[in-house]
Amino acid sequence: MVLGAGVVGVTTAWYLAKAGHEVVVVDRQPGAGLETSFANGGQISPCHAEPWANPSTPLKALRWMGVEDAPLVFRWRRWDPPLWAWSTRFLLNCPAGRARVNTDRTLRVAIYSRGCLQALRRETGIEYDQKTLGILHVYRDPHEFGHAVAAADLMGKFGLRRQVKTPDEAVAIEPALAAVHSQLAGAIFTPDDESGDAHKFTRKLAALCAERGVTFHYGTRIHGFEWSAGRIGAISTDRGRLRADAYVLALGSWSPQMARQVGLELPIYPAKGYSATLPVAEGAEAPCVSITDDEHKMVYSRLGDRLRCAGTAELAGWNDAMTRIRAEALVAHAKALFPRAGDFAEAELWAGLRPVTPDSVPILGPTRIDNLFLNTGHGTLGWTMSCGSGKVLADLISGRPADIDMTGLGLERFASLRIA
Ligand SMILES: Cc1cc2nc3c(=O)[nH]c(=O)nc-3n(C[C@H](O)[C@H](O)[C@H](O)COP(=O)(O)OP(=O)(O)OC[C@H]3O[C@@H](n4cnc5c(N)ncnc54)[C@H](O)[C@@H]3O)c2cc1C
Repeated sequence: MVLGAGVVGVTTAWYLAKAGHEVVVVDRQPGAGLETSFANGGQISPCHAEPWANPSTPLKALRWMGVEDAPLVFRWRRWDPPLWAWSTRFLLNCPAGRARVNTDRTLRVAIYSRGCLQALRRETGIEYDQKTLGILHVYRDPHEFGHAVAAADLMGKFGLRRQVKTPDEAVAIEPALAAVHSQLAGAIFTPDDESGDAHKFTRKLAALCAERGVTFHYGTRIHGFEWSAGRIGAISTDRGRLRADAYVLALGSWSPQMARQVGLELPIYPAKGYSATLPVAEGAEAPCVSITDDEHKMVYSRLGDRLRCAGTAELAGWNDAMTRIRAEALVAHAKALFPRAGDFAEAELWAGLRPVTPDSVPILGPTRIDNLFLNTGHGTLGWTMSCGSGKVLADLISGRPADIDMTGLGLERFASLRIA
């Protein structure tokens, strides 16, 4: 039984069904991918796997304190013990050595996952407005660009192609950047990255799962677990009890509340992000290559005849309410970068909660509860890591070794506060 029909839950169901299991998926929404997987940035970006917790973040967060439309906002002053506990662990992960370990762990999942997605695409022919044109990271600030060039060298050591580009070369790769050519300090191009509509993908994969016999219980709110002697016997829902022999927790930002019922503390905190999706008219100058604007923590993905502009992060609890000032800032940044991309007045605004761990690495694998497995905490890269995470979970549940080294990906890494 997979709890949660976001992109992570549905990919898990797919690989479990392929492995021959009888699979049931439970979600409170009326369909698949309707919460955080609904309108994200669309990027499949292993090459952008640097963790949020890195040496430069604490200073930036301090600088942005009190700035309502800042790219990253921590609401420290609220009464919020989970945020304080999470932030302490986050700070402990900021030193360069920790960031390198966490980058390595994330990359392991992300690179594997991109391969799994490509294989799934070949196998099923699934279409989700995907583009395989790479991702271009643009920089206006020469200092930030310098850092990015150094990071590109590091990623090179992990075998990822990150190519340093001049402003001229950046505009040649994506002509829609011509309007801001004079502002650019440079760019990094990652030709192997991709983009696509995570919601379309999730919805279509859920349909393929159903064809393989997976049962979906939509509109079903999970209240909790019935468990004894270290095993879960059933889940209780607003539609009654449901039983299975094994359970995968894939509830995104709501995983910690459920895990706590069986004594598991998951250090996951929701980081609210926004997106604006606008129609791209014929002849509009909207990008086709997916773009990352690191300074504003924003990404852009062309999804058919729409442009998705997404990003920013606000750590302010489990609510997805939008604030006008942050939504307007997001649209203003998009308009400044791509002034002729489309009709910004028509943009559909959305907010979602990224399930973020303090080290930016997802939590994958078994727990001390015999038949409970975790596939959660994917943070900023849940779409990127979904297929790989689903596949390793299916392998572990099937009693097979995962294709990747699972060291440092499980909940046990949080046993000591000092480590993560
Ligand atoms: C603005 C923004 C931009 C992003 N951009 C990117 C990007 O470019 N690339 C990338 O890789 N990632 C990106 N992400 C991150 C990515 O979207 C998430 O990591 C991913 O969607 C998480 O998927 P999930 O399946 O774990 O969670 P969800 O999609 O939230 O799924 C969890 C499911 O659990 C269900 N649920 C929760 N509680 C209950 C309950 N009690 N009972 C029943 N059902 C329940 C929910 O209905 C939901 O369907 C972005 C996120 C945001 C917010």
